[in-house]
Amino acid sequence: MTKTGLVALTDVNKHFGDLHVLKDINLSIAKGEVVVVIGPSGSGKSTLCRAINRLEPIDSGTITLDGQPLPSEGKALARLRADVGMVFQSFNLFAHKTILQNVTLGPSKVRGQSKSVAEEKARGLLERVGVTAQADKYPAQLSGGQQQRVAIARALAMDPKVMLFDEPTSALDPEMIKEVLDVMVDLARQSMTMIVVTHEMGFARRAANRVVFMADGQIVEEAEPERFFTDPQTKRAQDFLSKIL
Ligand code: ADP
Ligand code: MG
Repeated sequence: MTKTGLVALTDVNKHFGDLHVLKDINLSIAKGEVVVVIGPSGSGKSTLCRAINRLEPIDSGTITLDGQPLPSEGKALARLRADVGMVFQSFNLFAHKTILQNVTLGPSKVRGQSKSVAEEKARGLLERVGVTAQADKYPAQLSGGQQQRVAIARALAMDPKVMLFDEPTSALDPEMIKEVLDVMVDLARQSMTMIVVTHEMGFARRAANRVVFMADGQIVEEAEPERFFTDPQTKRAQDFLSKIL
């Protein structure tokens, strides 16, 4: 298993009509590894994430989690979604549920946990992400940074094997970015396997083992963060970095 990676994509292709959005993607992520995916808008980063928890079916190639091909339907698919925690740019919390309920819902429904077990765990997670005091409030009563931290707690409540983050701080006011990144750095230090789409170089430098640079649906360059940011090898990466740095 470790040889192929906890998450492994082999020759993955995906089209939207005539648009070829993922082109022969080969990517293997080891257990405990933190991979930052970076690249211009429209390069296929979100599609890549969505393919990994099967929100988007792929046209060809294979994706495996823990050595198993991704299931396409039924209970196995629900389990896969639980195993692959996903945090989006927009926090996507359930507006009419309290913060605590947001975190206990999945474990009760999908993992079949009792209310008391789910709640105890949820409170622990809310503490871990620093929003204990908000447990009985509703999402709209929280700041964006707090909501995003709840979204992370909600995903963690399922005991995922891997966490995907798709531009988790892009919709946040600057002063809230750090509090979310700090939670993510903490997760990385606790050996969570993570795939993180972000342009936050600070996060990549603090937490990532590898940076994957995508452009036009392809992986153009891969390197350790320090190397990638200081000495990118391809013209595409150099051009991109000159725009964002
Ligand atoms: P990124 O996250 O890197 O900005 P995306 O994966 O969102 O890129 O999108 C890659 C390309 O696929 C873009 O050209 C985008 O417009 C297109 N695309 C994404 N989702 C869809 C969809 N559901 N239908 C058609 N085209 C899509
Ligand atoms: Mg995107």
